[in-house]
Amino acid sequence: MSEIAKPVPAVTPQMVPFFDAARQGELKVQRCTECGALRFPAREICAECLSRQHAWVRVSGRGEVLSFNIMHQAYHPAFAAEVPYAVVVVKLEEGPAIVSNLVGVKPDLIRCGMPVEVVFEKVNDQISLPKFRPRAAG
Ligand SMILES: [Zn+2]
Repeated sequence: MSEIAKPVPAVTPQMVPFFDAARQGELKVQRCTECGALRFPAREICAECLSRQHAWVRVSGRGEVLSFNIMHQAYHPAFAAEVPYAVVVVKLEEGPAIVSNLVGVKPDLIRCGMPVEVVFEKVNDQISLPKFRPRAAG
């Protein structure tokens, strides 16, 4: 089978700091500098206080599986070799949720509440994607 590239996320101007950090192996989310609320993905306005002021802050990369889905069909040919694979919603320890993939575990062993930690998968020189793998609880 010929190599078919997976689609990669568009790096919008708002998300540039996130992808800059990911290239360095760091997971960052926006923090409202008015009220301190954390948010992901990037938004112009804080949902808590409506401020437009924010900074990007590093988070631990630890969290737990909030929800997940096992993909048994390849909806894009580039993913055909990976089915079945897991799409997960990870609730970070700091609060925000992030949609990603869970790697390093058989899909039938995935459970909600499973402790996970971030790992980065380099896609190209511009993009490294945060994925998650199981970790010991605690
Ligand atoms: Zn705020």
